[in-house]
Amino acid sequence: MEKIKILAGNWKMNTNLQEGIELASAINRHMNGIDNTNVKVILAVPFTHLTEMVRLIDNKQILISAQNCASEVSGAFTGEVSVKMLKSVGVNHCIIGHSERRHIFGETNETLKAKVNLCLDNNITPIFCCGETLDVREADNHKALIKEQLEASLFHLSEENIMQSIIAYEPVWAIGTGKTASPRQAQEMHAWIRQLLKEKYSNINVNKIPVLYGGSVKPQNAQELFACPDINGGLVGGASLDKDSFMNIFNAF
Ligand code: PEP
Repeated sequence: MEKIKILAGNWKMNTNLQEGIELASAINRHMNGIDNTNVKVILAVPFTHLTEMVRLIDNKQILISAQNCASEVSGAFTGEVSVKMLKSVGVNHCIIGHSERRHIFGETNETLKAKVNLCLDNNITPIFCCGETLDVREADNHKALIKEQLEASLFHLSEENIMQSIIAYEPVWAIGTGKTASPRQAQEMHAWIRQLLKEKYSNINVNKIPVLYGGSVKPQNAQELFACPDINGGLVGGASLDKDSFMNIFNAF
């Protein structure tokens, strides 16, 4: 089976609508001019941009994602955006449990489990993020922590639902810091995630579940990372905000 390849850009809280339209249009134009159809591109844009992005993207390889969703179905939750709202504007992917959500907004494994369930109940693919902080890595507890995060929020899923999910391994110490995990470190963790998937879901081909690496991916380091056998691509923050650097990362596959 050929390796699944995905490049996801996480714009975080960057770009106003006009700037977002310009960036997405430039990526769309660029993608329309190339024939590498093996790599799926996902743009995780701010909520305010979703409707417009779904409308303007006409390249079939590009998918639009939200960066978060509510953990409740509907009701008195001022400021929240539900999965049904996402679905209603044509969004089919949503990042869940990004380290900024876990650490700045205090999202727990329990909350993330609820969000994963809501996404899958509504046919939205969760891009589930896991990753350890520097303290945890230095204490050599990183494998145990990833296991705990996956077991707490993802491993209750049916075979069918886990097959519809994307996992992103994002060591917190590498996000936005300019420090990338070495290809050896990244591959070791991706192989660990794959092994955990295999143990839990022994009846399915777990190579069909994409596991992306995130943490200061740049055009200069993408090729080595993406060449690792268990890495299906990247979840890219900073470098996804510039069309040329994002497309150069795309070219690294
Ligand atoms: C991210 O936001 O998921 C991320 C990996 O950011 P950066 O690429 O900037 O480290």
